[in-house]
Amino acid sequence: MRTPVMAGNWKMYKTARQAGETIRVLAGLVAGVDGVEVVICPPFTALAAAVEAAGGSGVAIGAQDCHWENEGAFTGEVAVPMIADLGCRYCIVGHSERRQFFGETDATVDKKVAAVLAQGLHCIACVGETLAEREAGQTLAVLERQVRGGLSRHLTSPRLVIAYEPVWAIGTGKTATPAQAQKAHAFIRGVAARAADPAAAQAVRILYGGSVKPDNIAALMAQPDVDGGLVGGASLDAASFAKIVRFRG
Ligand code: PEP
Repeated sequence: MRTPVMAGNWKMYKTARQAGETIRVLAGLVAGVDGVEVVICPPFTALAAAVEAAGGSGVAIGAQDCHWENEGAFTGEVAVPMIADLGCRYCIVGHSERRQFFGETDATVDKKVAAVLAQGLHCIACVGETLAEREAGQTLAVLERQVRGGLSRHLTSPRLVIAYEPVWAIGTGKTATPAQAQKAHAFIRGVAARAADPAAAQAVRILYGGSVKPDNIAALMAQPDVDGGLVGGASLDAASFAKIVRFRG
């Protein structure tokens, strides 16, 4: 039995004050929801305010990226022990925007996931194909390469969470159909079984990300291998994200 995770990725939106306000409202709206892990990942500058606002609620806070070293001469970077020190419990790694605009590779994903897990945090590691890759019939090959290249050493960790995010569905309003999501999730679970072991593959949570909204989450969650959502745009509004968290109705 895998506990669902609903994680909001706020990208480069919201000041510390705005983040605190939204999280206080969200915490009230999701109070009493059982059996769903709720996570919000604001920008680095809002993490401390977010942790304070979430205090005592069931909402966990996470970062959107990290460096793989614990400290060092890496101007502009943020290390996992710094993120943990703020009270964060999650960190996203390998988001397609990091891969597309900031040179993230499967090799850096592997090192970052290791750093996150070593500090006792949960890691939400993202994989997913571009539109060109899907149209070229390469979706499954890309997913296998990303899972084996970035995640194979980490698949037995209970704190690893995988997010399948087809790049063509992120911020576009085009959601993968529940059947497309299920096919990709089942494939990822199969790769995990071959790369690690079947028990670890059965246990790992696989989230779907890509234009998740209150009106499509229930159909996605009805798929046997979809264990939650990584939500961008629809997580910026507390009421909208609370509806996603309350997908069971
Ligand atoms: C994301 O940022 O990971 C994402 C899936 O964004 P959106 O929900 O806006 O498509």
